This record gives sequence, structure tokens and C-alpha cells, in this order.
Amino acid sequence: MGSVRLIDAPQPTPSAREALLRTNKIGICGTDLEIIQGSYGEAPSGSDYLILGHECLATVEEASINSAGIKRGDLVIPTVRRPDGCINCQNGESDMCLTGQYMEHGIKGLHGFCSEFSVSDVNFLVPVPPELSDVAVLLEPTSVAEKGVAQSFKIQERMIWKPKRALVLGTGPVGILTVLLLRLRGLDVTAVATRPKDSLKARTIEKIGGTYVNANDQPITSLGKFDLILEETGVSSLAAEAQGLLNNNGVLCLLGIYQPKLATQDIGHSYADIVLGNKITFGSVNANKRYFVSGIQDFKTIQQRFPGVLKSLFTKIAGPSDFSKAYGPTKDDIKSVIDFQTLN
Ligand code: BGC
Repeated sequence: MGSVRLIDAPQPTPSAREALLRTNKIGICGTDLEIIQGSYGEAPSGSDYLILGHECLATVEEASINSAGIKRGDLVIPTVRRPDGCINCQNGESDMCLTGQYMEHGIKGLHGFCSEFSVSDVNFLVPVPPELSDVAVLLEPTSVAEKGVAQSFKIQERMIWKPKRALVLGTGPVGILTVLLLRLRGLDVTAVATRPKDSLKARTIEKIGGTYVNANDQPITSLGKFDLILEETGVSSLAAEAQGLLNNNGVLCLLGIYQPKLATQDIGHSYADIVLGNKITFGSVNANKRYFVSGIQDFKTIQQRFPGVLKSLFTKIAGPSDFSKAYGPTKDDIKSVIDFQTLN
């Protein structure tokens, strides 16, 4: 299966500002699969391999005294991106990097956390309360959803905006987590994908009070208009179609990775619609520490309002030696996890 393999890697030695982490769990997402297929990702300089794993829950094994207050035994989530010298990166917003010279653990230029031990700068570790330990590995994809939602609301401070209807395109983990965040904010949410109505994903959406639509049964153009749309499928034709579903003053947040594709749409009509309706389309990638922290707050509420739902997203759990199962496809899969605690 692609380029993924199990190797014996040397245990990394933390520098003064780094903590040594013992990995508990690793979540797998579409980006990992793209890296395995060779269409994305970059090994650290001087290394001929890249250790995967950017969605991680770990325990601090070793850390020298630091101003972040991170200490041995803490349960932490490392953020993914590490800053370059640009003004945004230097001010805690490497998710808004100006130059593109940032690095990302497990994705671009830095090893990930899918090994027994790994290292991270202590300033990019987010402590997790023990009561969230069984679901906390979902915080990285949640941080991406948190950023998309928070930025949408921030942009809309341009006017009085009281959104009622939201549309989420795609019901992968980020899609489902986005629906959860929007339900917490009291929105009427419709989620669209191509699984049948009785699939686990569809049932999960309905369980949290959303409406699930199978795009094979019902075209999205029949769903009416929306104040807020989050597009997470990465299908460019769907993103273009979504734009036309915005209410006046609405906002469309693109979260997918889109492949080059020639448009066949009437672009003049589309721009006129944007202008005459004060509409916005924007992109959002990655997430800084702030969005992991808001994810933790929202997880506490989700655990009370929708008990069991976060845990039900784990549809496959495998030990590290069973990695090919973990990275392989399964029908009706939501989130696959590699559990390093099986080694203990
Ligand atoms: C990760 C982001 C990352 C992006 C692009 C996503 O899968 O969740 O943290 O910035 O890939 O590399």
C-alpha cells in the first residue's frame, strides 16, 4: 500500500526547548493517505523518510523547566505547524503564515508523532484535561473545524449577522465535528455526503440534531439557501455550486484541498451574485493553539449534550504493528486510530 512501512527509528533527543513525548494515540486523516500515495508531504532535510502522524495524543516523558508550564506526566496534544520568521508566525499565528516556509509535524519538513517517542517544542503543546483523554486525539481535526467556524463569524462582524441555516458539505471527521460545533452555536444544520441515509455517518448527523442529505438522492440545489456554508469535500464543482446557495450577506468557508479543474460555470453570473448579495468566500487551513483550546472547551459541552458521540467516531482502532489495517479503507469508516498503548 503506497509508501507506508514500519521501521526502527532512533529515539529522538529533545533540545532545551523541546519535550520528549510518549505517543498514546494517533488519528489518521486524508492528508496521511495523500502523503502515502506520494502526492503531498516532505521529509525533514537530511532524512530519506517522514514519520507520519500529525493528529496525536501524547504524555510528556521529559521536559526541562519551561514558561509554558509543561511537565513530565502531562497529557498533551501537539499542534501541527511550526513557525517561520514571518510576522504572523512570530505572533502565534503560524496558521496564517505569510511566506509558506512553515513546517508541519508529520507533513512538511518535520517528523510526525506516529512513533513510540517523538519531540515537540513545549510552546506548541496543549494540555488536555484527563476527563477528555479517551476522545482528545480528535482535537487536531476539531481545531481545523474550530478555525473555519470562528473565522467565518469573525469575518461576519462586518455587519449585523444572525445566521440561522448552515450547510456542511462532506461528512468526514472534520465535517461531523463542524456540524457538532454549529449545533452548539444553535444553528439549524444540514450535512451533505453520498452515503446512504442508514449509514453510520448519516445516523451520527441526525443524532446531533442535524439533517443528513444523500446527494445521490437529492441535488444540493434543492436545499434552499444558507447563511453559512463550510465545504470540506475538496470537490471543486461542489464548492462552485455551494457559492450559489448562499443567502444575501452569507459566507462560504472552503476547507478542502482542490485539484486543478477548468470551470464550465458562468463566472459573470457568479460574481454578480457575490457583489449584489455582499457574499464572501474564503479559505482556511491549519489551526493555531487558540483553536485547540476552544476545541477543549467545546468538547466538554459536547460530552454533556451529546454523550458518547465523540467516542462513536472511532470506527477502527489498531496497534502500531497493524498499521496497514489502520491506513487501509473500510466501509463506513469515520476515524481510524493507531493506539500505542497496546504496546504497554
Ligand atoms: C492538517 C493541517 C495542515 C494541512 C495542510 C491537514 O490535514 O490538519 O494541520 O495544515 O493538512 O498540510
